[in-house]
Amino acid sequence: MDISEKETLRFKSAFQMIPFGFHSLLDVGCGEGVFLNNFVNNDIKKFALDQDFLALKGAQSPKSLASIDALPFAERAVDVVTCMEVIEHLPYDLYELALKELSRVAKRYILITVPYKQNLQLMLVQCPFCFSRFNPYLHVRSFDYDKVSQLFSIFGWVCKKIELISKKYEYYFPLQKYYKLISVRDMPANVKCPVCRHKKTSVMNTNGISSAEKKSTLAFIKTTVLNIFPKKESYSWIAGLYERECG
Ligand SMILES: [Zn+2]
Repeated sequence: MDISEKETLRFKSAFQMIPFGFHSLLDVGCGEGVFLNNFVNNDIKKFALDQDFLALKGAQSPKSLASIDALPFAERAVDVVTCMEVIEHLPYDLYELALKELSRVAKRYILITVPYKQNLQLMLVQCPFCFSRFNPYLHVRSFDYDKVSQLFSIFGWVCKKIELISKKYEYYFPLQKYYKLISVRDMPANVKCPVCRHKKTSVMNTNGISSAEKKSTLAFIKTTVLNIFPKKESYSWIAGLYERECG
């Protein structure tokens, strides 16, 4: 599996945040196991966990097919629990249960990464079939510095470190918010509508130009126009490292 430069940076930055001297690591929501397979040293006992059976096939460590709200591990079973790009997807009724489970199973550290300060309202796209509007990545919550620093406080954990990962520049102009709110964005190719399950595929039109290419031309024009507006600095992800408050 190819790992993008950006993803590599995220995984490396996350791993480097964990203090040395731990012996076991459980990656909750590991997907195909990219982090465990490529970024965690082999002298560490690794455990992979995901609720997606097919994705889990890629993980090379001992694996568990389970949901984040019912981790099949004893209390304080592993030194470090990582959970990356997962909790922004969790439905309302699972969220707190999930955080509680992560803190139950971790002995020393928890490491979380999530997208940084996403504006969920501006990200909505519309399904051309049933007209439902939804987040194309199925993200249901957004995280800023304060939210990340307080994530495990109620379970007796202290935030030891926060890092912003992968600097980027966002255009902004005064009417952007209103423009985006009134413009209906079509759902991207290969995204499935969570309501009716309609999925758009990238189709070649009669000129042999794929919709993706057409989109990239549009994106180029848009970028050229937007270049006259100032840009503000932001980051793609925020990572938090937590330690148990008392031993
Ligand atoms: Zn739909």
